[in-house]
Amino acid sequence: MSTLRELFFRHMGLPSRRPLAIEVERAEGIYFFDKDGKRYTDLVSGVAVSNVGHRHPRVLQAIQGQLDKYMHLMVYGEYIQSPQVKLAQKLSSLLPGNLDAVYFVNSGSEAIEGALKLAKRHTGRPGVVAFRNAYHGGTAGALSILGNERLKQAFRPLIPDVSFLDFNDANMLDRISENTACVVIECIQAEAGIILPEKEYLRKIRERCNETGTLLIVDDIQMGFGRTGSLFSFEHYGIVPDILCLAKGMGGGMPIGAFISSHEMMDKLTFEPELGHITTFGGHPVSCAASLANLEVILEENLTDAAVKTGELFYTGLRDHSKIKEIRYKGLMMGVELENEAITNELIDIFLEEGLISDRFLFRPSAFRIAPPLTITQEQAEETIQSIIACLDRLK
Ligand code: PLP
Repeated sequence: MSTLRELFFRHMGLPSRRPLAIEVERAEGIYFFDKDGKRYTDLVSGVAVSNVGHRHPRVLQAIQGQLDKYMHLMVYGEYIQSPQVKLAQKLSSLLPGNLDAVYFVNSGSEAIEGALKLAKRHTGRPGVVAFRNAYHGGTAGALSILGNERLKQAFRPLIPDVSFLDFNDANMLDRISENTACVVIECIQAEAGIILPEKEYLRKIRERCNETGTLLIVDDIQMGFGRTGSLFSFEHYGIVPDILCLAKGMGGGMPIGAFISSHEMMDKLTFEPELGHITTFGGHPVSCAASLANLEVILEENLTDAAVKTGELFYTGLRDHSKIKEIRYKGLMMGVELENEAITNELIDIFLEEGLISDRFLFRPSAFRIAPPLTITQEQAEETIQSIIACLDRLK
């Protein structure tokens, strides 16, 4: 009889040539366990998803409660489903006043697609401005604004009229013009290896958008939900987007995303044209129930402050190690730069042996990430720092 591992390679479509292929048995908090009982500490959080840890009891309870009532009933936006309405109300109450209409979708990519469509409809303009080394998802629209040729050139033609700026280069902002429908930006570039915006850079972009009547779309898909030490990353930088995209850490481990704008703007997808964006499973009631519980956990357990405190702990614990060239971080989202890609690969293999899960960044292979669940305790963090140091010490 074939093993599960053999069937995995035989029958599943796989994006990666060398997947980790750990046969996971169960997960709890910051840990998961393979079929042989080996424990792994999750320093990736499913790529910024499990901010409240794996299987948080409040999230499980909310899922169970909703399963007992109903699951999918109808395509999105037709029936009044309380998990959706309550979550939309809660998100609106936590966001600045102009972000009060929440369109629920299934994923980060779909949130980006919806936001791009909305911006084009609202402004009537064709142009989009995006950034080099930005990742916004794998669907056609998201791929069009991906700031890396290697990953997208095989799929051309894509959406036309996209221009790319260098992140943090304020001299390029005159490329945002009266033809530009929207600028799509991550406040902190994730897959570039955790690149923080220079002082006032995001404010300058906001100002240029105001001057030209261009909409500012913030992709907070990877940095949202407490990860950087505030609920949403734009809150650090004194700007408010016109459209906010969320996903990943939004669902407490369940799939959900959203794009959020003013009601006036969102009406474009209701009236001009009607059915401007359609989704069957968007805002699945079980995901929405999980997402509301997830949000309550982040707020009640004060995970934003925890992210800042634990981020500092990792930074001070690791910064003086001779193998580390640089640490870039905000809250508990950290990119650790080593000498080169080969050394990072070697370290990630040592991590695996020692039961630590990290990952490279898509566009920065010489760095690895430290982004554990925000629920990690001080004790667990200290133990993890010591394990990381022991692994760094093994590098030649
Ligand atoms: N935007 C950012 C910043 C992301 O990191 C990702 C996924 O990694 C996406 C968008 C796409 O999200 P999804 O994979 O849920 O489609």
